[in-house]
Amino acid sequence: MPDIGLLNGRFMPLDRLMVPVEDRGYQFGDGVYEVIRTYRGQPFQTEAHLARLERSARSIDLTSPYRPEQWRAWIHEGIQRAGYPESKVYLQLTRGVAARDHAFPAQSAPTAVLTVRQMVEMNPALRTSGVEVVTMEDIRWARCDIKSLNLLGNVLARQRAKTAGAFEAIFVRDGNVTEGAVSNVMLVKGGAVITAPDDQWILSGVTRRLVLDLARKHGLPVEERAVSIEEFRQADEIFLTGTTVEVLPVVRVDGRAVGQGRPGRIAGQLADWFTEDSIRPPR
Ligand code: PLP
Repeated sequence: MPDIGLLNGRFMPLDRLMVPVEDRGYQFGDGVYEVIRTYRGQPFQTEAHLARLERSARSIDLTSPYRPEQWRAWIHEGIQRAGYPESKVYLQLTRGVAARDHAFPAQSAPTAVLTVRQMVEMNPALRTSGVEVVTMEDIRWARCDIKSLNLLGNVLARQRAKTAGAFEAIFVRDGNVTEGAVSNVMLVKGGAVITAPDDQWILSGVTRRLVLDLARKHGLPVEERAVSIEEFRQADEIFLTGTTVEVLPVVRVDGRAVGQGRPGRIAGQLADWFTEDSIRPPR
């Protein structure tokens, strides 16, 4: 099966998709992106992802030349063309091609790229065993709420986690836990689900919102507030949320066991509810 690419409205095999060196996405990371996955072949939470794409673009004064309906049509066509059982769709919008200058070009047409690859599920053993995370200083900028192409802080953190043999890096800023390099993070204490507030210091995850809604729906107390690193270390349970990790239990932080050192009961329930309520189509 071919991976599929789309450049400014034209579909092509992904290995034929080329963007000029002077695209500002390449030179400055001057652009925004989204990742959408399918369940049962259908793109999941498309509206929420497209709304976030619009918001990210607006936050960097980039006007998307394409309406959400156009993106939606491309997403569906790309998935059909690729023909995978499950797909991972990547959308990227940059400020376009212009002679290199930090300030915005007087005229440039945004570059829109979409790619469709096969969705490779995480190793299911990680869901039953849980994963290890390492904490590190959050060196990213002050607009982590924008899903920007500038991912160096995330890239370096994720690499450090990998080198340390851990699954994910958890950022700590001014003594508070913000999020993971590629995920949001939540803890459970005394039955309450606690996570950093939706502000400039985290990416507001589509999965984060769904999981918090599920927790509330099932009567669990939810607290969106600052979480100190000390409180984090004393959690009964910890779990990650994200498009690819879904709800993933964490059993070790910096080499120390979380709670009983096993995946937590509430994380397990949330993972089950996520599967039942969000993934399965309505009967
Ligand atoms: N935080 C960061 C830094 C991310 O990169 C991601 C996902 O890519 C998330 C959180 C989770 O967001 P979502 O649930 O929308 O995938």
